[in-house]
Amino acid sequence: RAYNFNAGPAALPLEVLQQAEKEFVDYKGAGMSIMEMSHRSKLFEGVNDEAEQLARELLQVPDDYSIMLLQGGASTQFAMVPMNLLSAGKTAAYVNSGSWAKKAIKEAKLIGETRVVASAEESRFTAMPNLSQLDLPEDTAYLHLTSNETIEGTQLAAFPDTGNVPLIADMSSDIMSRPLNVSQFGMIYAGAQKNLGPSGATIVIARNDLINSSQAGVPTMLRYDTHAKSKSLYNTPPSFAVYMVGLVLKWIKGKGGLAAVEQLNRAKTGLIYGAIDESGGFYSGVAEAESRSLMNITFRLQSEELEKLFIKGTEEHGFVGLKGHRDVGGLRASTYNAVPLESCQALADFMKEFQRTHG
Ligand code: PLP
Repeated sequence: RAYNFNAGPAALPLEVLQQAEKEFVDYKGAGMSIMEMSHRSKLFEGVNDEAEQLARELLQVPDDYSIMLLQGGASTQFAMVPMNLLSAGKTAAYVNSGSWAKKAIKEAKLIGETRVVASAEESRFTAMPNLSQLDLPEDTAYLHLTSNETIEGTQLAAFPDTGNVPLIADMSSDIMSRPLNVSQFGMIYAGAQKNLGPSGATIVIARNDLINSSQAGVPTMLRYDTHAKSKSLYNTPPSFAVYMVGLVLKWIKGKGGLAAVEQLNRAKTGLIYGAIDESGGFYSGVAEAESRSLMNITFRLQSEELEKLFIKGTEEHGFVGLKGHRDVGGLRASTYNAVPLESCQALADFMKEFQRTHG
């Protein structure tokens, strides 16, 4: 298999793919695949419940939170959050940490009063903004942040205490990569296609009191209470994606849970950041040290020409996905949970060899 450093959709654990392959044509003796069975069947209900239970267990989600598996990606959540939670006379507060935060802000502005209360613009998004002294408007409906900026390669090391103001986080690119205190948040959402499974499913974890009182006039499919009440089975769910999310969560549990996964992620990224830091300036990290992401490592070489040569070299050696996002250029290695340590070791070795031959 390729050394897959894609940013999303991203690598899946080999064991998960093999399990899915085994069950692909005939799921548990049903004589059909998951994709072919009714989403109202006992078998699929079991798959749906298990995925939810595993997410609850791994993240230690308190009982007064609902877990939903929806469609539409995190991009739909950018709109659903303000549609459901931003009422007239209230202000939605946003942290502008980079490309994905900006997209969330753009959607909120379509819905209601939106204010950016912290921004990393000054650092050109190479660091997460300082959230230690937030000045929130008195009528704040919620504070929204992006825990990991996939494109810039920055990640929040800690989350602010927002008191009674619900904290809402887009965790699309780092959910389940480290332990989390869910009770600090009003809501967490993430597209599945980086750390949780294939694209097509979106996880939403939300405190019940927030979602039981959605704004009137929000269409049925875009209301959180619709999906929470029907256990994500209001309409036809992305059944195969939900099944795959369940397998990935089981795999994470088998690895020893989120503390063990974080430790492994630190070891993996340590190899690549190490190759950058020990290169004497041949490679330079984009993100400032305290904001470095454990999921997306962004770095540059001294010229675009050299970067092109680097990409070409990686492709010849079985690496995939190392080109930086088209908006920012440079190089990016996405080291999500399913990327094995061996792939990171191979990349670190390649980087050292490339430096030896081109430095
Ligand atoms: N938020 C972040 C942090 C992301 O990385 C992405 C996708 O890469 C999105 C949101 C958008 O997710 P989706 O494609 O599921 O709408």
